[in-house]
Amino acid sequence: MLQDAGGEAAIEELAAVIGECRKCPLWENTHHAVPGEGNPRADLMFIGEAPGKQEDLTGRPFVGRAGKLLEGLLLGIGLTRDDVFIANIVKHRPPGNRDPREEEIRACTPYLEEQIRIIGPKVIVMLGRHSSRYILSFLSVEFDRITEIRGTVYRGVLFGHPVRLIPTLHPAAALYNPGYRESLEEDFRVIGHELAAAGDFTTQD
Ligand code: URA
Repeated sequence: MLQDAGGEAAIEELAAVIGECRKCPLWENTHHAVPGEGNPRADLMFIGEAPGKQEDLTGRPFVGRAGKLLEGLLLGIGLTRDDVFIANIVKHRPPGNRDPREEEIRACTPYLEEQIRIIGPKVIVMLGRHSSRYILSFLSVEFDRITEIRGTVYRGVLFGHPVRLIPTLHPAAALYNPGYRESLEEDFRVIGHELAAAGDFTTQD
């Protein structure tokens, strides 16, 4: 119980630090930092790319159209956003929703790594190629296109935690491509299956 309370407090403290972060210039054009939110003891964690306009205005991750799609996919495997933790690679919105730059990712990812350390999720799902590239680099997994590796389950130890890593498409891409939506639904079935098995595999890895 004490440990649980510790996790929640640590996540909140980190969010406050992120709110004041000036390690790269992204904060200059934003309304809010978007540290991430959800269950600080979640077994399942999602990592997106960067906040968009709605996220910047509210300070919450995945609250725009892509977020609605994510919520629908979660419901499909019997979960709500309160059950999981949702974070991004970078915590401030890049201007005009451009891709985050290498140096911005380098400055920001220690926050994500600390979130993973605190939460200790059993399954991490990377939404899109940026978060997939970053997280899978720890396992020395390289890829050209996210469509080549989506839905694959990688096992590893990340920041001290045994974890299963599943790259999938970014929900925003599926808003314009119905075929991608089917792929996402397929990958979410894999996620549901891995999560159900999660109780068993932590002791095996
Ligand atoms: N896209 C992302 O990658 N993250 C968000 O929080 C919203 C949209």
